[in-house]
Parts: sequence; structure tokens; C-alpha cells
Amino acid sequence: MRPTRHVFPASPLGTVLLGTYPVTRSDAERETDDPVAAALGDARVLVLELRDGTLPVREADGAARLAWRGAEALAGEGAERRGDQELAHLGTHSDGSPVVLDFRPESPPEQMEAGDPWPGDLPGRPDETWEGLREAAPRLDAEESTWATIAVALATWHSESPHCPACGSATRISHGGWARLCLAEDREIFPRTDPAIIAAVTHTDDDGVERLLLGHSTRWPEGRFSTFAGFVEAGESLEAAVAREIWEEAGITVDRVEYRGSQPWPFPRSLMLGFRARATDLDAARPDGREISRVRWFTREELDAEVRAGRLILPGAVSIAHHLIADWYGEPLPEPEEDRTF
Ligand SMILES: [Zn+2]
Repeated sequence: MRPTRHVFPASPLGTVLLGTYPVTRSDAERETDDPVAAALGDARVLVLELRDGTLPVREADGAARLAWRGAEALAGEGAERRGDQELAHLGTHSDGSPVVLDFRPESPPEQMEAGDPWPGDLPGRPDETWEGLREAAPRLDAEESTWATIAVALATWHSESPHCPACGSATRISHGGWARLCLAEDREIFPRTDPAIIAAVTHTDDDGVERLLLGHSTRWPEGRFSTFAGFVEAGESLEAAVAREIWEEAGITVDRVEYRGSQPWPFPRSLMLGFRARATDLDAARPDGREISRVRWFTREELDAEVRAGRLILPGAVSIAHHLIADWYGEPLPEPEEDRTF
């Protein structure tokens, strides 16, 4: 019997929040040409609804859980709809249940107001809220946040891929929801991921003092700083992308680049590849003035003091940037000493 769970090698970053649980992804096509229908015929099926990028979340015993549906959520759908339209067989839950994603668009988002109950076929479920992945993931357990990440990534790709990139013809969902088929050419089209690098730039001076360089984006509120990031360009290696982005955004040359871990970031379809990069020169740091308006070196003591005083806002725990900073810091990141939200 094949194992139902795989083992991941641990990342040096520890547990980043998205996509790190070793879920068993769908390989049902080995056994059936209609994995969605087979899953819906299983009484244990867990159906995850995704509507306009939001997922239903329920509070239970002080914890947040995905509000899974049973097959009855799809009752009344025509057989042809159930089999191949906007449904995907994501895989097998750790409890053995097949997991199906239902990502039917229900309503144009412009008709929705925040907090509105979802229109259409969702009956009143007063104990649930519809939440985006960024809001929900930190409150879900590792397995559920991973299913939610896969769901958002896959559904977003489908919604953006109604036409064949080669010939422009219409496409339809296939392979149990993991591909699309060009109706004119019979060409298979698979989900795309855009690689992006994100890097913690470090420096150790002649006295052995270690510092981390962070940047402030022109788009951010005062006090917010993070690591440096950017998309990998056509024909570019990861190492070259790290060196280029740090040079462009912070004026720094790096002579060593070390991979630390990755995180899917399906907004809409990035894979963040996290690095630590060693700067050759402390004094060269300067912002590009376009994307980055300030850069600043921090010792661990300075980072700790600034965060505790509320003057430095670091990225939230859902992002790999947070974990790259904590990886350098050496322990969980400090928090502000008083709640400064007002
Ligand atoms: Zn085509």
C-alpha cells in the first residue's frame, strides 16, 4: 500500500505558514479518469468552497477551522457540471477523506459589501465568516492553511486562464482540476508559478558586529521595514536575481547567497524563494528612491529596541519575510510593548 503522507525536509526557516504541511496531493488520475466524480461519490468527501478568493472559516473551541462542506453542497448540480466545471480534486486529507475544491464564481465582487452574507445558494451560516487567505492562514492549523493555499493558487490560475496562451482558443478544466485543455489544439496547459526571490541582507564588520539591512517601501506606512524582494527575470538564475535586486533596491553588492527556504504566495501566483545574502560593504547602502525610500542597518539590539518601542513594524508571521528576519535574529521576533493600534 502506498503511504498517504509524504515527508518534507525541514526548511532552515522552520514553519512558514503557507503550503508547508505535507498534504497528499491528487494522484487520483492513476486510478480514474474522473477523480472529481469519484471523490464526490465518497461519503467522506470534504468540499472546500472558494468564492472571490475567500474561504468559509468557523470558530470552534477557540480555534479557527475551515468550514468544509459535504457532497450535499453540490447537490442539484447537473452531472456534467459536477464532473468538470470549476471543481478540482485537490488530494487526500490526513484523515483519509478526498478533498474537493469548488470555486464557482457566485457573484461579481462589485456587488458585495464587506460583511454581506454571500448571496445565492449558501444558506445562513451565522457562525462562519468568509476570509481571505492572508487573514485566515495564521489562525488555521498547518494542514488546513496548506489546503487553503493550494485552493487559492489553483482557483486563481483557472480564473485567469480561460484562453489558450498559444492560440487564444477557449480552454476547459481537465485532469481532475489540475490542468486545462485547449479546445482547438487538444493542448494541455498546466498551472504556472512565477518565481520571486526575497533576501535578508547581512553584514559582519571587523569587530564581529552583525547587522541586517531592511528597506522601507514607498507604498508602506511609516515605520514598516522588510527584506528585499523581486521577480526573477527571463533567463535569470536565482543567485543573479538576488544580487540584482539588492543592487537595484539598496545599492549593495553581495558576495555570498544562501538558500533558506520557500513559500507559495498565491497573490496571484508567486513562489517566494528565500535567501540570506552577505553584503560586501556596509556603507554603500542607499535606497533606489523609486520602490524603496529608506534603507537601514539594524544590529539585533537595535531591531529589538525599535520593535518594542513601536517605531519599527516588521512583516507579519504569515510571510516568509518575517521568517527570514527571525532566522537571522536567532529567536522569535520581538513584539511592540504596548498595543499601538488606534
Ligand atoms: Zn490552443
